[in-house]
Amino acid sequence: MKLDNIQSFVPPVRTLMGPGPSDIHPRVLQAMGRPTIGHLDPAFVEMMDEVKVLLQYAFQTQNALTIPVSAPGSAGMETCFVNLVEPGDKVIICQNGVFGGRMKENVERCGGTAIMVEDEWGTAVDPNKLEAALQANSNAKIVAFVHAETSTGVQSDAKTLCELAHQYDCLSLVDTVTSLGGTPVKVDEWEIDAIYSGTQKCLSCTPGLSPVSFSDRAIDKIKGRKNRVQSWFLDLNLVMGYWGGETKRAYHHTAPINALYGLHEALVLLKEEGLENAWARHENNYQVFRAGIEAMGLSFKVKEGDRLPQLNAVNVPAGVNEAEVRSRLLTEYNLEIGAGLGSLAGQIWRIGLMGYASNLKNIWYCLNALKAVM
Ligand SMILES: *Cc1c(COP(=O)(O)O)cnc(C)c1O
Repeated sequence: MKLDNIQSFVPPVRTLMGPGPSDIHPRVLQAMGRPTIGHLDPAFVEMMDEVKVLLQYAFQTQNALTIPVSAPGSAGMETCFVNLVEPGDKVIICQNGVFGGRMKENVERCGGTAIMVEDEWGTAVDPNKLEAALQANSNAKIVAFVHAETSTGVQSDAKTLCELAHQYDCLSLVDTVTSLGGTPVKVDEWEIDAIYSGTQKCLSCTPGLSPVSFSDRAIDKIKGRKNRVQSWFLDLNLVMGYWGGETKRAYHHTAPINALYGLHEALVLLKEEGLENAWARHENNYQVFRAGIEAMGLSFKVKEGDRLPQLNAVNVPAGVNEAEVRSRLLTEYNLEIGAGLGSLAGQIWRIGLMGYASNLKNIWYCLNALKAVM
């Protein structure tokens, strides 16, 4: 790489049908190119307040502490764990894919003990196993799980898992990075205590922000901590002063101003479409995609009923070089799909129909390109 040769970067135009990022809505990209203003400018502060209201709508919650963390989904995950887990706390983690493993990492780095409840990759979290773990660990404080496992294309029953957590006096902590905007997420109805998501999956927005929301119960636990939160940047006691309720806005960090314009626009788009309509669109497009995949003689990894409409795990047929197919789709068709991870590496493709990318034109394009390449 010679410095003299480096010029402006102009990316190729791709169709993004992998596990995220997904295609960005043009109105979001346009919004992000608008003039930057100061992060304490009254006009910006008003926009921040609108983002909070729009996120409350997306999450279906009245939680006052509903904000985007200024960093990607992984930072939203970390925000939940570093604030809620104190040294010595027992946390039950239901793992059925890659992201549950990261939850374990988080708990242990906070000085907590992770009790793992494992289900086979490609299947949903089994509520009976969770209940057995809750009975065996009566001093557990938190139950954490991934609602939509992007690594396998599985959706778990968040409502039932949260109910169980509360029956045993635990807080519920839920990863909805891939579900928010794609399939129902109902924070208040399901009594989720801590939730995080991402902007680059079903919200049709660029990566780099993480919407989070916390119930009053969760905030009580945070305020009653004996130790300070180990992370200064993610300490909600400080972040709350910046995203403020009624109080003045204290400088904490400089918000990613233009990125927030993008999220604001993405959430306005969601409001314009209507949350229920967005869920229905993801479901209907999955049905079309599924018919096409089955007509090609291909099959799905996940059993019907547990499938995510926005992320399809398609079995790689015997004798097909899965990596070569992906690479040819990218170079010949500018089409990105995802590979399997962990124990599913080499066995599946992960084909996303997320947000703006969930449309009939993409489905037609993907099915035909796949057919041509194979
Ligand atoms: C993508 C994803 C994350 C991580 O989000 P980043 O923005 O990549 O940090 C976490 N959990 C799930 C389920 C995801 O799909």
